[in-house]
Amino acid sequence: MSPLIVRISDYAGFCWGVERALDMTYRAADEAPAPVNTLGPLIHNPSVIADLKTRGVGVVSDVTETQGGTVILRSHGVPRETRELLTRSDLTVLDATCPFVTSAQEKAALLSDEGYLVIILGERDHPEVLGLRSYAGKDSLVVESPVDLPAKLPSKRVGVVVQTTQSQERLAELVAGLAPRTRELLVHNTICSATEQRQGAARAMASEVDAVVVVGGKESGNTRRLAELCAAKQPRTHHVESADEIDPAWFRGLRSVGVTAGASTPPGQIEAVVARLRKVEP
Ligand code: SF4
Repeated sequence: MSPLIVRISDYAGFCWGVERALDMTYRAADEAPAPVNTLGPLIHNPSVIADLKTRGVGVVSDVTETQGGTVILRSHGVPRETRELLTRSDLTVLDATCPFVTSAQEKAALLSDEGYLVIILGERDHPEVLGLRSYAGKDSLVVESPVDLPAKLPSKRVGVVVQTTQSQERLAELVAGLAPRTRELLVHNTICSATEQRQGAARAMASEVDAVVVVGGKESGNTRRLAELCAAKQPRTHHVESADEIDPAWFRGLRSVGVTAGASTPPGQIEAVVARLRKVEP
């Protein structure tokens, strides 16, 4: 039997924004005033967080937990109030907020200032969405799909912003649900280009292979959405965090498997999965 053909999707793994945040943090570990802490885990990846810890970079969940030194804002961004609190503190602040997230925050603030009811498409408890919400005004709503919309919208003038890692499919669904219920609908498609490229490449690959393995943290929203998109094209899609989870039985009788990975999945984790798949005898 010929070996399983393993294909790796374009744009699998770290995005530009995550790489930038990691570079800033590793540099801060050597150069910034100690103690160095990130505000929340830098990325949804336990092995990276453990590595940072060995270099003296800790994690705090709240600004009040810091005892001087340096605080690093991760790529997801922070709520407006947190930023204001930090400005008044004597901490050294390194801002690794991804510019795509900053742009979405600015658009949310603009819509709110112009009197729109702001609807955020995203995961309610995700740190990026909590940040967006602080700019979108107290009446803003967070939805994951049109099903989450209230029976009666408080305004017919609606502005939409989107968590940067959502999918175009979900946005299209929401816009279709909102259009008949509004008089004015202004949509800022703030899905970032890295997400679009990754999802586009994974979608195309999923329809050309016999199975898909999506690598990344189970807590990582963008990885979960990637798995969801691939499963819509190829039902034999498996979401794994590490190579140990690969079950050779998944590939029995198949010829090919495609691999993709979320924006917070380190290269070593992808390589380990690919190496394991290359040993599978279908
Ligand atoms: S997924 Fe997009 S918005 Fe998020 S950090 Fe990466 S490039 Fe920035």
